[in-house]
Parts: sequence; C-alpha cells; structure tokens
Amino acid sequence: MVRTKEEAILDLTKVDEIGKTTAGCLYSIGIKNPDDLASANAQAVADAFSRGERGKGFYNVSVNSVQKWILAAKSGNWKYSRAKERLAAIEQRARENKIEYDIDHEAFREFFGEDTKNRECKYCGISEADIQRLLAENKILRKNIDIRGKSMEIDRKDPKKGYIHRGEDDSNIVICCYWCNNAKTDEFDAEEFEPIGEAMRKVWEKRLRS
Ligand SMILES: [Zn+2]
Repeated sequence: MVRTKEEAILDLTKVDEIGKTTAGCLYSIGIKNPDDLASANAQAVADAFSRGERGKGFYNVSVNSVQKWILAAKSGNWKYSRAKERLAAIEQRARENKIEYDIDHEAFREFFGEDTKNRECKYCGISEADIQRLLAENKILRKNIDIRGKSMEIDRKDPKKGYIHRGEDDSNIVICCYWCNNAKTDEFDAEEFEPIGEAMRKVWEKRLRS
C-alpha cells in the first residue's frame, strides 16, 4: 500500500512518546512506520538527530529517550491509539460532568479493540465500515461527521451509573454510534432504548440496500 508522507507521519504519532515534529524527523531519516521504529538502533537514531538540520525540526535527543520511543513502538500500543483517544474523551467528560469513572485501561483496550477493528453499534448494528460506505455514497446527511459520527462512541448502559469497565462481566459501557448515543442521551437505559435502536437498524439497512 502506497502511503503519503502525511499518512506515515500520522502513523508514527500513534506510538506513545512520539509527537508530530519527532515523527517528521524520523520519517526523513527513513523510519517510516512504527515497525521501523521498533527495530531501529537507538544510538544510530540519536546520531542522525544530532546531525540533522535544525531548521527541519531536528533536535538533540539522548540515546535513552530514543530507547523509550523504541520500547513504546515495540509494546504495540500504537495499535490502540483510537482506544486511547476515546478513553481520554470519556475521562474528560466524566470529570467535567462529575460522572463516576472507573475504567481498567487494559480491559478497555481489549474491549474497544485495535484501530483496524470494524466496530459495530450495540443498538442499531451499523458498523464503521457501513458508515464509510454510506458516506462514499452520499447517504449520510450529518455535516460534522469528522467531529462525531465516523467512529463509534461509548455509551453508559444505565445512565444513572458511571463509566465503569473493570472487565467484561463488570461493565456499564457499550460501543454505540453517534446517532444512537445522541438519541439515547441520559434519558433511556439500554433496555428501554433497544426498540429505538431496532427501528434505526431498519433505516440503515434500507439506506445500505438502496
Ligand atoms: Zn447506532
């Protein structure tokens, strides 16, 4: 798969520890994805950074710091950058709205899945791939789809309870689409919302078929 420089840089920033400037520098010294970074030599990278042009973002970095980048890349955390983003978003929402928050990060990562996972809405069944397809066919009316809509969100099954996920058997959260989340609000619990989700499922199926 041919990727643009921008895509490669975005990919590198998925590694914990790596920001955009650093990713740009890594790209220019031939480290073009997290796997390249995982197998890089820390000393060689630090040397290349010290030789690099200051105007192009290069800076002096210690071998120790590069070692940390390499470890982060090896840990495979980059596969879960969307889970990380989603977690940060709900953590913030919980804080701002004083909602209980008790989420085991490892369990959440498992639950939300890798970035490549095609997540489905628990209520209406639409998948992220379906949303992409509907978008490509101009069958999604919502305008700010990039802000909310393209990717699945997290809903609290029982809105009276918090963001709780200590494992599969002890969880108050489900994956759901923007449309269901927006309709469900803090008003309905998961059971009450089920028939509404089913009704939305029929609409999506019709659009997908048309
Ligand atoms: Zn839905």
